[in-house]
Amino acid sequence: MRRYLSTLLLLACTTLLSSALYAAQPIKTLLITGQDGSHYWKGASQGIEKILENSGLFEVDMLITPDFGEDINRFEPNFKGYNLVIINYGGATWKESVRKAFEKYVSDGGGVVVLHSSIIPMEDWPAYNEMTGLGAWNGRDERWGPFVYWKDGQYVYDYSPGYAGYHGLQHETIIDTRAPGHPIMQGLPPRWKHFKDEIYTKLRGPGRNMEILATIEENGRHEPIMWTVRYGKGRVFVDVLGHCGNDPEMIYSILCTGFQVTLLRGAEWAATGNVTQPAPKDFPLEDTYTLRPEFKAPFHAY
Ligand code: ZN
Repeated sequence: MRRYLSTLLLLACTTLLSSALYAAQPIKTLLITGQDGSHYWKGASQGIEKILENSGLFEVDMLITPDFGEDINRFEPNFKGYNLVIINYGGATWKESVRKAFEKYVSDGGGVVVLHSSIIPMEDWPAYNEMTGLGAWNGRDERWGPFVYWKDGQYVYDYSPGYAGYHGLQHETIIDTRAPGHPIMQGLPPRWKHFKDEIYTKLRGPGRNMEILATIEENGRHEPIMWTVRYGKGRVFVDVLGHCGNDPEMIYSILCTGFQVTLLRGAEWAATGNVTQPAPKDFPLEDTYTLRPEFKAPFHAY
């Protein structure tokens, strides 16, 4: 009997241990990057990879597409086995079979994060426009959908004609939380300061199944800069912050603690539907930005 009990105990311990290990499994992440003539995408993607892996929550495979002038049809990622796909990409539209595989991955419940200039490419792929909700440049105008912005506590869908996409000089800015109850934003301050960045405005697109998480006031208009989109069973988190210039010294925008924390939370939410990360103590305040130059939380952050 004693032996039986100890065997049971051992079994129970093993089960507990394996379930604890299972819970601690990192989120399998595919980071797709490349082909962006306006950005030092390689440095930014290496930074994003560090932000994710240093959190201990993600295991990242970086996949670089064929370069400009090379054949994009050689790009054949396998989305199976990933809980999350992060897109930091600015080039040619993927071939039909890859598009179909990605649409299936997302509609079956896959998580997606779309960063900064990745709302610009692939304007000729309707499902990508649906997944990103809003886009800019590359010929986009009223045919792609309304301008979407925030006014007096409500969404504005503005169908007036006009070109999508504008940004001025880079600057520090205040971010307004618009969905404080959303798991990505829960516990974060209603307003916080973001470090110098390039702020995209005048975005337009289908804007369906979209929830605006945060806005920035530019030229008198509250422009969405972080939002989510539901596509089938899939969850998409779009963050148009995170500009990087064209050399390694110019990835300062992604050093911002606010960028890193919302990326980590958005990525976890997209992959799992939940956010387990508490609001850190080094998060920026309304009048003070903070930086994480090591791409990780400092020892006193939690
Ligand atoms: Zn940029």
